[in-house]
Amino acid sequence: MRLSRYFLPVLKETPAEAQVVSHRYMLRAGMIKQASAGIYSWLPLGFKVLRNIERIVHEEQQRAGHIPMLMPTLQPADLWRESGRYDAYGPEMLRIRDRHERDMLYGPTNEELITDIFRSHVGSYRDLPLTLYHIQWKFRDEIRPRFGVMRGREFYMKDGYNFDLTREDALHAYNRHLVSYLRTYERMGLQAIPMRAESGPIGGDDTHEFLVLAETGESEVFYDSEITELKFGAREIDYDDRAQCQAVLEEFTSRYARTDDTHDEAAFHDQVPEPRRRSARGIEVGQIFYFGTKYSEPMGATVTDQDGNRVPVHMGSHGIGVSRLVGAIIEASHDERGIIWPEGVTPFHCGIVNLRQGDEATDTACESLYAGLAALGLEPLYDDTEDRAGAKFATMDLIGLPWRITVGPRGLKNGVVELTSRRTGESEELSPEDAVRKVAEIYAPHHDMAMQQPMPQRAFHTWM
Ligand code: ATP
Ligand code: MG
Repeated sequence: MRLSRYFLPVLKETPAEAQVVSHRYMLRAGMIKQASAGIYSWLPLGFKVLRNIERIVHEEQQRAGHIPMLMPTLQPADLWRESGRYDAYGPEMLRIRDRHERDMLYGPTNEELITDIFRSHVGSYRDLPLTLYHIQWKFRDEIRPRFGVMRGREFYMKDGYNFDLTREDALHAYNRHLVSYLRTYERMGLQAIPMRAESGPIGGDDTHEFLVLAETGESEVFYDSEITELKFGAREIDYDDRAQCQAVLEEFTSRYARTDDTHDEAAFHDQVPEPRRRSARGIEVGQIFYFGTKYSEPMGATVTDQDGNRVPVHMGSHGIGVSRLVGAIIEASHDERGIIWPEGVTPFHCGIVNLRQGDEATDTACESLYAGLAALGLEPLYDDTEDRAGAKFATMDLIGLPWRITVGPRGLKNGVVELTSRRTGESEELSPEDAVRKVAEIYAPHHDMAMQQPMPQRAFHTWM
């Protein structure tokens, strides 16, 4: 993309209404525009990051064997009357009446809708296990929408639902989700710590929240510092292997990590030696639940088991805050000049800054860098405007592309351009060809991760 042809409405001034850094930078970098309280338009740069996060979620869900679909935002109230949640949910639910006086609602979550789909089409244990998911806009009329996209009223969420014959099978689905979430967040450059939590209105026996540590987090968390050293890394997981999923789960949940809801001061002191005890703030970026037959029983979602008996299925649900993650990643990765995108989610792979637009040699070198990166499947953002160098650098730093190639007449005389890391600020002089090669090498593991997918998912990748 050439900046001169893009739509990147950056702001010079810091917007007064933004209380946290992610909200400030998202407004200043022209990523979002508020439409009304807690409801945002996603401008092109923000939309790109949202799509990148969404793509990683899709890839990791499908890697774990979960099946994508799409349910509507508007739902009939009658289904929620069946589960008993129409009255239970309270004022966070946006209730709507259509022209025929039918009660509708803008879905805050989808347990009822998915259970209805299941009971209409599945009747035998042979069709299990089954996990369906979608990524769709939700609406919760939050009393205090704030922090930009982190606590919106309309927000984008991945929600998935597993259907299993037995409690044991459903607990495997739970473990499988926990493991796949670890991998998902790590690909986004995040360390999200799974913490045992209390269940909210969704209800349930077993639940873990995933929290990203950041000063502006809304939850207080207590944890063993060793937990932040755990890495999912490049390990290969067979998601059907129960023992393997269980082992990873234990590795990541055996150390003390609790939110303020469930914090047990005495257990913390018993289990964690003093020098490793930490308390901090955390942002919830996902949650998984096992809730057994809570919906299947009242809504009649049953299957025949091996003995021909009708039994309610065991279910769980699992959510990832896709739009919240855009803010959470910025909270976890920024400095005083702007955002620092992790390679996995960056809106463009590399910036190109032309220090003397209109100079034939620099223009030609920039064009060939642009073509060279594009030929390797990378997407550069080329600042080809007439702005002065200082302004170009400030914009690049603000929008946070992890790598920048700077091209000026002086370097070109010696046959070099400058490759700079946004994170460390370190620069190195390289020939243009080597700069392109180096950037491609940096992104290779991220591309590999996407490319390990079987064909249909790859096709999905291309239309995104
Ligand atoms: P919170 O405790 O932050 O209100 P929740 O526990 O009610 O969230 P879940 O039902 O677990 O939310 O939804 C799954 C994920 O959706 C959450 O982990 C969070 O990342 C995201 N999410 C929930 N509410 C919002 C919101 N108002 N704005 C943006 N993202 C949200
Ligand atoms: Mg939650």
